[in-house]
Amino acid sequence: MPTTIIKEFTFEAAHYLPNMPDGHKCRRMHGHSFRIAVKVMGEPDATTGIFIDFSEVKRIVKPLIETLDHWVINEVGEKMGEPLLQNPTSENIAKWFFQQLMPVLPGLNCIVVHETCTSYCEYRQ
Ligand SMILES: [Zn+2]
Repeated sequence: MPTTIIKEFTFEAAHYLPNMPDGHKCRRMHGHSFRIAVKVMGEPDATTGIFIDFSEVKRIVKPLIETLDHWVINEVGEKMGEPLLQNPTSENIAKWFFQQLMPVLPGLNCIVVHETCTSYCEYRQ
């Protein structure tokens, strides 16, 4: 039976949303304690009983977390030439994580980006 493994990560970062209407509070630079959940789906091995080791997920995802942690995400996007991060909505951050991880994380199913305790977004293809 397919099983979903979920590994969560946190990072602190600032951003602003340049395409929001004039006067919208999200156009101003502000920070979040972002929480990212990486969901990986697969069939557990009959012998080990696991699909993928949590530490393996961490090894693969951690470099992306470090790319954003304690930076202004828009500026990271400028340096990388990455349009999704130049307009770093939760939706675009989730899509960026998914696109980066898809080639290297077999069974990737969903990325969840929590911007606040009550607001989050899920991206899957
Ligand atoms: Zn925000």
